[in-house]
Amino acid sequence: MTRIQKLNNELLFEKFYGHNTNVYNMEGFTPQVVDKEYLKNLGVQVEASDETLTRLKTGSEIFKRRMESRTVIPVTRLITCEIDPETVETEIHNYTGRCPTLTFEINPVKGCFVGCQYCLVTDGVHEQTITAYSNYHLYVRKLLKEMNGTPDREVTKDDIRKKNELLKDLAHAIESEPEKKHEIEQKIVEISRGKNWNHYYYFSPKTEALQEPTLKTGIAYKILKEYIAHFKEYPDSNARLFVASKAGVRQLMCEYEGETILDLFIQLKDYMQFNTSVSIMPTEFRNILEPYAAPIEERLNAVRLCQKNGIRADSALIQPIFTPYLTDEHIKEFFGMLHEAGIINYKPEFLTACMENLAMLGQWLGYYDKKLEKELYEDYIMPSNADHKKQRGRTAPDRALSMSNIEKMMRYTDSIGMSVSICYWVRKQLKIGNDIIPIINRNGFQCLGYQSELFNINDKNFPHVISETVLS
Ligand code: SF4
Repeated sequence: MTRIQKLNNELLFEKFYGHNTNVYNMEGFTPQVVDKEYLKNLGVQVEASDETLTRLKTGSEIFKRRMESRTVIPVTRLITCEIDPETVETEIHNYTGRCPTLTFEINPVKGCFVGCQYCLVTDGVHEQTITAYSNYHLYVRKLLKEMNGTPDREVTKDDIRKKNELLKDLAHAIESEPEKKHEIEQKIVEISRGKNWNHYYYFSPKTEALQEPTLKTGIAYKILKEYIAHFKEYPDSNARLFVASKAGVRQLMCEYEGETILDLFIQLKDYMQFNTSVSIMPTEFRNILEPYAAPIEERLNAVRLCQKNGIRADSALIQPIFTPYLTDEHIKEFFGMLHEAGIINYKPEFLTACMENLAMLGQWLGYYDKKLEKELYEDYIMPSNADHKKQRGRTAPDRALSMSNIEKMMRYTDSIGMSVSICYWVRKQLKIGNDIIPIINRNGFQCLGYQSELFNINDKNFPHVISETVLS
């Protein structure tokens, strides 16, 4: 467990972007209790189970309380503290055991200022104080050196065999013995030390990499500088940086000690990828759901700025997708916009939500469009869909609907030359056959949108990309 060494002062900060909508003062909006009666009055055609109804009701009550106490979205305040780099536990980003490349998580903030109401990490809860680790870069330095500094010794076939076995064990544990997952992950971390295997470093899966708390404190800059120093010291390093972010131009151009994030990205351009993260939903709805994220146009301008400066920024995470909004017209409009910004690959992720969170999201959506709210509940709450759960028990939309929506998106995106990255979990749930993997990988992007070309695939030092068929 990460040990906090020193608690520093509380900081107040200015936000980069905001929207005009005041969630606490929306004309005519009062949180309701989503129960049987509410769903019936809305015209919802499917019968929810008693358990689902209880959870929707609980979520409605929590939402009401948080609206009253004004704790729905984050406040512009954070605490900074110093951690003991020796005690940070290395986290592998892997929910299926089938991810083709070993990826380490870089999470320098607990909480997140963007405040997404659907947040996969917090289930949309932003009551907690945001804590930023001001010396997190020291942990990054240590991790980089351990994993991708000069190899201790030649990698042997036995090392590779052991690693593949552990990955198979991990895949089994995730599906059947989740209590063993952590232990196996730590063994994988252990066996990877000193090998300089191909590794992605994901900045940041559990918070926004380029948010006010990481920018105004200099944390993001210090982390990026660790990578710059690492590649100078170890030119043959097989570490690669994957930044997934909702940042706009203002974040990229934010200056700290005379340098912008873009300046640092430029120095890292052969070793990194910047993936924008955008959602498919009505704009007014997005303004509520992502209160402090950059507007979509600004995120795409950030993509253009990166591309103009030679930084790989041609893949996007499309999340979350609200199924009721996914009409042919919106697909065309949305992906057309991405295409114009030079995006050639995307990873689609439908909204996944626990029922408590769904009660809140449904009501926000209903404020703009009651029909979409009705359809949202119908897409999630039917008893036959109760076992369609992603990590941490969040429900995904009905399987048949998910599949037809993926096909619908792919029909259009194929026509404009875009490839699609689909995670193993989704492929398994939806029974998407291996035959579409060539289409998926067409542009060289792996499951989360990682670009395999970033690695020197002829490197004899080895097995960076482990084929999923090896693991199946
Ligand atoms: S940016 Fe990501 S981590 Fe932050 S609130 Fe939104 S979904 Fe959660």
